[in-house]
Parts: sequence; structure tokens; C-alpha cells
Amino acid sequence: MTEATQRTDGTATTGADGGAPVVLRLDNIRKSFGATHVLNGISFDVRQHEVVALLGPSGSGKSTLMKCVNLLERVDDGQIWLGGTDITDPRADQDRIRARIGVVFQQFNLFPHMSVIRNVTLAARKVHHWPKDRAEARALELLDRIGMRAKAGAYPDQLSGGQQQRVAIARALMTNPELLLLDEITSALDPMLVGEVLDMVAELKDQGTTILMATHEMGFAHDAADRVVLLRRGVIAENGTPREVMDESQDPETKEFFSHFR
Ligand code: ADP
Ligand code: MG
Repeated sequence: MTEATQRTDGTATTGADGGAPVVLRLDNIRKSFGATHVLNGISFDVRQHEVVALLGPSGSGKSTLMKCVNLLERVDDGQIWLGGTDITDPRADQDRIRARIGVVFQQFNLFPHMSVIRNVTLAARKVHHWPKDRAEARALELLDRIGMRAKAGAYPDQLSGGQQQRVAIARALMTNPELLLLDEITSALDPMLVGEVLDMVAELKDQGTTILMATHEMGFAHDAADRVVLLRRGVIAENGTPREVMDESQDPETKEFFSHFR
């Protein structure tokens, strides 16, 4: 595979392999908390329409990496490019960058005292200053797409955990982001509810959404991800197709890691 060439502004041109443009580029990211070196030089790309699964044991830095991309944590060193924008540049406009990235966490995504429609429209209205009509129209369109329009007036505790996560994904898509970050979005769910959320992620993939997802759902990563990136001790242990990494890697630690999920 030919690597994409990179212009000095960080945007990648399509490579000689005709590969899709690079949406997210992590370039030698380092992040420590005190003496704990969590990310020790992480570099990889996510290309347009790709689903990349970020794997690794608990504490390997998946959430930290996601938070750096979403500007909830600042990197100590290295650069993160979203399209042609160096989002680690301190002068970058954080709200504008966040509007270009959708994020869903493991839990506590929805405000319990607000209806579904208010939850979905909140950031678009308050942070991105959309008028109410525009935000509600977009929210209803998204809720319709996931079969949840009838629940627009419901409160989160009237929904199942799976429905709540699907609403959270809909909210993350409000501003039509270039990149969707999903951080273990099924880990807190009753096993019976995991499937409906993963089905929604698979649908988004089919629609061409670019997704970076931290997950322990190895079956899903294997079947749905275009690429898997395995973190270990602050560095990338593996980066390849699910088959290359999950089935064919000869690295003993990699094999040991995946053996826990069989
Ligand atoms: P993962 O998501 O892969 O489970 P995390 O990114 O949550 O891993 O955590 C990686 C490491 O960083 C852990 O050792 C964790 O304790 C530490 N860590 C994460 N956030 C903080 C923080 N705000 N302050 C101190 N240590 C942190
Ligand atoms: Mg995590």
C-alpha cells in the first residue's frame, strides 16, 4: 500500500493507491498524567468513510486518545489534524472544531431532566447558535431515521439504555460532523441492548460515516471495522485489517490479548 503524501498544511492528497482523503491524522501524540505516560508517540490516520476500531486493555489510553481528538485533553506533544486543520494549535477555534466531530461516550450522554428533542438540539442551539427551527427540523429528521421520532417528547428514563445511546448518536450527528468518535458506547448496556446500538453503527458505516470507535466488542470490530488499531503500553502494537491483526498476527501479546475474547 502506498502511503498518502502529505502537504505541509497537513491535508493528505489521495495516494497512488487512490485511497480516500485523510479525515483524521494523529502525528506522534504524547500525553502523560504526572509520571504516567499514557500515550507515547501515537501516529495513525483515519480516512474518509473508514471505520477504525481502537482496541486495547482497560487503561491503555483509548479514552485519553479520544479526548485529545475532541480537545477535552491537551496533548503534550505531537499534532492532530482534522482535514487541513491542526486542531492542536492553541489558536484553533475549539467550538468550530468540536462542531466538526461528533462524540458519544459510554454513559451519561443525555441530560435526565430534558426531553429527547431538547437533548438532541441543545449543543446545536447553545454552542453552535443554530435557530430553534433549524435545530428541531434536523433533530426530527435524525430521530426519524433511527425510528425514534415518536419519542421526541420522552425523557431519558423512559427509554431503554440502547435507545438512549441511539439518541446520543443522533445528537452527535446533528452538525453533520466529518468524524464520529464512539468511546465504548455499548459497555454500560445490558447485553440484550448491545445489538441495536451496533446495528446503528453498522448503518452509519453503510451511509459512509467516518468513525473512530473504542470498543471491546471484538466480533463487531472484526466484522464491521475496516481497520483495527491496538494500543499497548502507550504505543500502537498493531494497525491493520481486522484479519491481519485479529486472526493472523504472530505477536504473542497480541494473540494473548485476543484470546480473552474467544
Ligand atoms: P482506556 O480508555 O483505554 O481504558 P484511559 O485513557 O481511560 O484508558 O486511561 C489511560 C491511563 O490514564 C490510565 O492509567 C488512567 O488511570 C490514566 N488517566 C486517564 N485520565 C486521567 C486523568 N485525568 N488524570 C490522571 N490519570 C488519568
Ligand atoms: Mg476508556
